[in-house]
Amino acid sequence: MSFPGSGLAKGLAVTLRTMTKRSVTAQYPDVQPDLAPRTRGVIGLFEENCTVCMLCARECPDWCIYIDSHKETVPPAAPGGRERSRNVLDRFAIDFALCMYCGICIEVCPFDALFWSPEFEYAETDIRDLTHERDKLREWMWTVPEPPALDPAAEEPKELAAARKAADKLAAQQQAEAEAARAGTAEADTDRATDQNRPDTPGEGT
Ligand code: SF4
Ligand code: SF4
Repeated sequence: MSFPGSGLAKGLAVTLRTMTKRSVTAQYPDVQPDLAPRTRGVIGLFEENCTVCMLCARECPDWCIYIDSHKETVPPAAPGGRERSRNVLDRFAIDFALCMYCGICIEVCPFDALFWSPEFEYAETDIRDLTHERDKLREWMWTVPEPPALDPAAEEPKELAAARKAADKLAAQQQAEAEAARAGTAEADTDRATDQNRPDTPGEGT
């Protein structure tokens, strides 16, 4: 039940309450906002990792990723091998006027070629300039924060474990080769010393 003037009293109560609170107005652009490192500001492209699989463009709900490519034939790695064909990227662009920052493209990329950057100051007066081509997307890569350090107690990532195993195997192989070479040199030295100490066989020489 309300009585006459209750709305005014409520309004005044809100005014009094907020008057005593500290202002939370962000003073941007004079003061830069303190953003979380994983803020979804803009998308960076690390094109060396991109295999032009088109997964990101197909999964983007806004269809705002534009990719063009052509096929190139790669000669066989060894004589007698087969030629292979690979996709070469011609164009990679994202239209940030359409993008809704859902992050699906980054999630689905199987080759870690797309990353979030917290940069957000790329407003344009012409909407067409919000389509960022590959060079601009690459520039954003330099603003992508480093990933957080691994938990020391975490299980070693399988890529690191595989690389470590390969490095250990190579080191063991090189050590075995070096030891074999040392053993060969020592054996040759012993043979030479034996030959020098052996008395001359009767009848040898003149
Ligand atoms: S963040 Fe979402 S909308 Fe934007 S390009 Fe990626 S998939 Fe498309
Ligand atoms: S999903 Fe990743 S690898 Fe595939 S085209 Fe997109 S950015 Fe390139």
